[in-house]
Amino acid sequence: MDVLTTPELMLAWSRARQAQAHRVGLVPTMGFLHAGHASLMDALRPQCEALVVSIFVNPLQFGAGEDLDRYPRDEAGDLALCEAHGVDAVFLPSVAAMYPEGFSTRVRVSRLTEHLCGASRPVHFEGVTTVCARLFGLTRCDLAIFGEKDFQQLTVLRKMVDDLALPVQIVPGALVRAEDGLALSSRNKYLSPQERLRALSLSAALRAMRDAAAAGEQDVSRLVSVGRGLLQVDAVDYLEVVDPDDLQPLTVLDRPARAVLAATVGRTRLLDNLALGPS
Ligand code: AMP
Repeated sequence: MDVLTTPELMLAWSRARQAQAHRVGLVPTMGFLHAGHASLMDALRPQCEALVVSIFVNPLQFGAGEDLDRYPRDEAGDLALCEAHGVDAVFLPSVAAMYPEGFSTRVRVSRLTEHLCGASRPVHFEGVTTVCARLFGLTRCDLAIFGEKDFQQLTVLRKMVDDLALPVQIVPGALVRAEDGLALSSRNKYLSPQERLRALSLSAALRAMRDAAAAGEQDVSRLVSVGRGLLQVDAVDYLEVVDPDDLQPLTVLDRPARAVLAATVGRTRLLDNLALGPS
């Protein structure tokens, strides 16, 4: 497994692989890797000949007062996990290498980024789309996989690729949970044992909404009440039922939909989501 720390090395590596007609697959991450990230590697591995994982805690996608400075890191553990999952190259750039002096481009997808997480994190998605556009350029990837865990992010990146006609296929990866139902996240490390117990109420609320929908409840406000009634969190950022393609809120569950949830437990903001309704 190659470990590449500069954009120049990354670009040369990908060009050499593509010269051999290898498809390059990219798994973009911020590190502190867990089984959710590993599942993305495993899903992409059979679809490409050259599998790249990028590890970069991207300052552009953190707002003031967010957790950029304390975001968990474990470079040795991350490299071991990548190696164990058959990764060919890890791209591990510094902030100065990703955003050299004079870097002045921002990529912004409008509308889709203005509600849900975008309402409380106004700079977040612009940071995500900007870093992903640069990662796509540096890795020349043919495929890039993103987890459904970050459902809005996946939708926004699909839109960016579509609007800009970028030659990258976006592949969705299923959300991976701990055995007790908690959606895996690097930020789960912040939770105390008591907070982690309360965090289980996120997935419990979504399951209750799914069960109510399966039992015939189609009124979205009643479904949301079912979910809210179970949450044991300190603040609910949003709990909505949206169309999975354009993320517009639904009032009646008359088509496949996604329940999407963001809530804070202690100081930790957690996300979860679940498919609802007729498939
Ligand atoms: P992050 O390192 O949190 O920026 O996540 C990197 C990628 O892993 C993103 O595409 C996430 O959606 C994905 N990811 C994170 N957690 C999970 C999970 N529990 N299941 C599936 N994918 C995940």
